[in-house]
Amino acid sequence: MILKIVKYPDPVLLKPGEPVTEFNDELKKLVEDMFETMYDGQGVGLAAPQVGVSQRLIVIDLSNKRDPEQKIVLINPEIIEAEGTQYGEEGCLSFPEIHEKVVRAQKVRVRAQDVDGHWFEKDGEELLARCFLHEIDHVDGIVFLKRMTPLKRSICQRSIRKLQREGNW
Ligand SMILES: [Zn+2]
Repeated sequence: MILKIVKYPDPVLLKPGEPVTEFNDELKKLVEDMFETMYDGQGVGLAAPQVGVSQRLIVIDLSNKRDPEQKIVLINPEIIEAEGTQYGEEGCLSFPEIHEKVVRAQKVRVRAQDVDGHWFEKDGEELLARCFLHEIDHVDGIVFLKRMTPLKRSICQRSIRKLQREGNW
C-alpha cells in the first residue's frame, strides 16, 4: 500500500520519533508499505515520520528496486562511528523539487535492529553514509534544511514559499 508522504513543515517531521518496541506483523507491514511508498516516489531512503508515523524506523535502497540485496531496514538506529566529510547534493521526499548541497560525514557505522528485533551493525560510505545520516536525522526530528548553510537555507525557504503559493507543495 502506498502511504501519503508528509511534507515540511508538518510537525511530525520536526519531533523525535518514539523507539520501536513491538516487532510484530504490523511493523513488517509498515516496512513493506514504506518500501512501496519510497519506490513510488523515486526515493532512495524514507523514514517513518515522513509517512506520519512518529517512530524510529528507516528504509533504504540505493538501487531503487533493481537489487533486492541493497534493501536496508534500520530500526532504532544510531550512528556509532563517523569519519571524514563529504559535500554533496541531497533531496528529500518531504521537500519536493528542493535539492541542495549539505555537508555530511564520509563514512559511518550504524547500529540498529532488524524487523525481528536483532541488533546489527552496518558500515556506509559516500552515498550510503549520506543516506544513513539524512534518514537518522529524520527519526531525530531534524530535516536537511537544518544542515544547510544559512544562505542556502533561506534560498530553499524562499523556493518552498513560492511552491506553496503556486499550490505545488
Ligand atoms: Zn528526507
